[in-house]
Amino acid sequence: METHLHIGFDDTDSADGMCTTYAVTEIIRQLDFPVLLGYPRLVRLNPNIPWKTRGNGALALTIGGSARTAFKIGEISGKPVLASFDEGEEKQNRRAISEKASAAIEALAEMDDENTNPGLIVCDTRPAPSFYWRAVRYVVDREDALDVCREADAFIAEWKNGRGIIGATAAVAWLPAGRTYEVITYRERNRWGKTRNVNEEDASMLSVRYPSTFNNYDNETRHMCISPASPCPVLFGIRGSDPSILPNAMQSVRSELVDRWLIFESNQGTDDHIIRLSQEPEQFCSYFASGQVKTGPRTITGGHVFFEMQYGTRIITCAAFEETKNLRNIVRKLVPGDGVAVWGAYKAGAEGKTLNLEKIQILSLVKRFVKVGNPLCTRCGKSMKSAGRGLGYRCRACRTTAQEARFREADCTVSTGLYSATTSSRRHLSMPAELAVRCAAGKAANNWQENDN
Ligand code: ATP
Repeated sequence: METHLHIGFDDTDSADGMCTTYAVTEIIRQLDFPVLLGYPRLVRLNPNIPWKTRGNGALALTIGGSARTAFKIGEISGKPVLASFDEGEEKQNRRAISEKASAAIEALAEMDDENTNPGLIVCDTRPAPSFYWRAVRYVVDREDALDVCREADAFIAEWKNGRGIIGATAAVAWLPAGRTYEVITYRERNRWGKTRNVNEEDASMLSVRYPSTFNNYDNETRHMCISPASPCPVLFGIRGSDPSILPNAMQSVRSELVDRWLIFESNQGTDDHIIRLSQEPEQFCSYFASGQVKTGPRTITGGHVFFEMQYGTRIITCAAFEETKNLRNIVRKLVPGDGVAVWGAYKAGAEGKTLNLEKIQILSLVKRFVKVGNPLCTRCGKSMKSAGRGLGYRCRACRTTAQEARFREADCTVSTGLYSATTSSRRHLSMPAELAVRCAAGKAANNWQENDN
């Protein structure tokens, strides 16, 4: 018998209720508050999967931490949840734990929803991390997950079409290259589905009071990003790079009664979903590429902005959609020849296949010019007239021709730097500019690394 056990599960919720993270708190309760080995994990997977409910989050926890070095990472109905980074000595009963975890999933999952297809694994060896990298970047099959689980000799439980086994396996397989944390608070059961009472001013002050937190409040749209809009049990969640300040950050937000809270380790804000673009992009994948603005930008009905970028010998259309808000204004200021790096999901839409921007880094800016007038005739000095669209100019007096109008250099209204979509439209996995700047001293595109583990 082993001294630790990994439990991974996914796909218990529907758009009408529940949240798979809540199931972690229930499993902890039903296993009678074991000491966890490390934090429980909230692992976001490919954000472009069409059958996801919301944020494509899968969950895992490891039991078997040492009670001697345990510290508090949460509280459920007044009882502390403890974790340690040291392994305990107590042997774990895999069969009993698998049965209890299965019962908890079965009791909690929204089984009546056709899109809820839970999967659960329990194992003492982590499945190969390469499975996580595939699940966070590509579309994978349930059969692949089952093969990986069998290799790890995992206990497997599946309900309905069993698709949740993909997320369950990836959540346990995740070997962090980068990590962030999120403290999630939950509502009392009798409040589920009712309007949330969370103080908006406190939410807006979080990034000031606790600078290591991120994506708390959207100043542009005045939207409180810590609180979901769905009828799920979550009250609010605060993300940050330093877990030790999250309990204080949580307490700084006045709200209705918090029934339970728990800190998760997460791949949120790590850009793990991003693949360096080298060949033809695939639908449902997210890419990083750098190159030069080729044509555009142009704005279409609805306020969406597009431009073409040349990278190597290829050209890709990049889109800044309306919901990215100020990112569009940055894109609108680009001109052909500017050097940019882009991050985004590759998808087919009404405008064809586009790379939908999550972030852009402006690497270099060419000189800007504004037209000051038609050219002056080199022979007689008169102002020339247009010879027709694309045909240049002609002097009416002496028929001399010229191609170029008169220009003067103009101020550039945008600076080099890294720009993200507005906070409320960010993907969970997308590394916000403020975090990227902190991580890489402002050189995100240069320092950007792909983790091909
Ligand atoms: P929430 O974020 O509210 O927990 P969700 O958005 O995670 O919900 P799920 O209901 O869990 O959505 O549905 C996502 C489904 O997609 C799960 O069954 C999961 O196993 C599966 N899945 C996750 N990643 C991939 C992938 N890369 N390829 C194929 N299926 C995937």
